[in-house]
Amino acid sequence: MSDCIFCKIANGEIPSEFLYEDERVVAFRDLNPQAPVHVLVVPKDHHENFVDDVPAETLASMERAVAAVTRETGIAETGFRCIMNTGAAAGQTVMHLHMHVLGGAPLGEGLIPS
Ligand code: AMP
Repeated sequence: MSDCIFCKIANGEIPSEFLYEDERVVAFRDLNPQAPVHVLVVPKDHHENFVDDVPAETLASMERAVAAVTRETGIAETGFRCIMNTGAAAGQTVMHLHMHVLGGAPLGEGLIPS
């Protein structure tokens, strides 16, 4: 999508440092980190959210990206949280599917941040 910021980052139109890249997804650090490690895993193809006809291969790549990034940043051992905000009421502000990967500090026990 021409006016989508994550399309532009994922396809290299806006330069970014990738912690992981394969043919279907990229991973890069969040601009406004909410934890010591806060990485976004983003498909190269545009899907609005997790239930927008995302191919199984893309979901598999997202899983590989999470595994690689958490290993690389040292949070695979300590634990991490994956979040996909879906829709405005859930706090989704960028309407291009992305998974937040957060860790590096205690994140609290609740599902819903206060
Ligand atoms: P969400 O609120 O779930 O849609 O998350 C969007 C996330 O994208 C927020 O955490 C933003 O800080 C992050 N973000 C927005 N623009 C950029 C950018 N250019 N580079 C990295 N992260 C970004």
